[in-house]
Amino acid sequence: MRKYDDYHKSVMVEEVLKFLITKDDGIYVDCTAGEGGHIKAIYEKTNGKAKIIAVDVDYEVLEIAEDRIKEITNKIEFFKASYKDIDIVLHGLGIKKVDGFLMDLGVSTFQLKGENRGFTFMKNEPLDMRMDPDSDFTAWTVINEYPEEELSKIIFEYGEEFKFARRIARYIVNSRPINTTFELVEVIKKALPPKERYRRKRHFATRTFQAIRIEVNREFDNIRTALEKFPEFLNTGGRICIISFHSLEDKIVKNFFRSNEKLKLLTKKPILPTDEEIKSNPRARSARIRVAERI
Ligand code: SAH
Repeated sequence: MRKYDDYHKSVMVEEVLKFLITKDDGIYVDCTAGEGGHIKAIYEKTNGKAKIIAVDVDYEVLEIAEDRIKEITNKIEFFKASYKDIDIVLHGLGIKKVDGFLMDLGVSTFQLKGENRGFTFMKNEPLDMRMDPDSDFTAWTVINEYPEEELSKIIFEYGEEFKFARRIARYIVNSRPINTTFELVEVIKKALPPKERYRRKRHFATRTFQAIRIEVNREFDNIRTALEKFPEFLNTGGRICIISFHSLEDKIVKNFFRSNEKLKLLTKKPILPTDEEIKSNPRARSARIRVAERI
């Protein structure tokens, strides 16, 4: 069993509590339960009065969450599901209305560190990157079977690898088959001019890996589907609180909040983490929160 110190450090907890919780005895849905950090905070903030529904698509991570917060699990319903199917989860529980939805998008520390998940270029593993271990669509398929044009588009858009997406896509196609994360890193390395590689603040494979992960998990489509479903389940005054890590995610959230007539935007500008938080938790660096309220 892992040490407590190893757990995923939840981002922007104070900000989430401030915006999400409108009453102690409300029903709150954490659509990305992860290792349960935000859930624990919601539980404590509401003095154990809230009912919390914990959803995650990764059952390995749910097991960790359940164990980590086992002393409070009697107040929590855990579900292995995708947030895009949130309506099915709530119908299944016989719940018609809730008071808040939370989404903390991105990858959990467990997924990055976990064995054989293929999310990280720091370890040599099969190309996988599935958040949902039940899905059969993996990074291997994207890397080895997508046409060059499509790969290039994904790396450009989702990876925001604006200048070198085409080159990376071409090198990938010419190096097939590519079977492991280290093989992929080598290909990206060859595609990027050395000057470019050394100039970057983050590892040179970060953007391509992010792009492939977003594609494998259909992350943006799932976010859109989930957002569309939230308003009908919210009590008046209930909130949707989204933490995003990618500018395209944030754009999807912003546009949805602005255009949905059932919602009032509570954050004209996104809320950013404090400098202190960024120092103590590098994952918070690109986090931003947007919140809307059901009218
Ligand atoms: N808030 C959590 C951390 C969440 S990390 C904490 O404080 O510990 C993001 C989580 O979202 C990961 O565990 C990942 O498995 C989950 N996730 C990704 N896509 C999902 C989807 N479509 N449906 C449900 N959960 C998803």
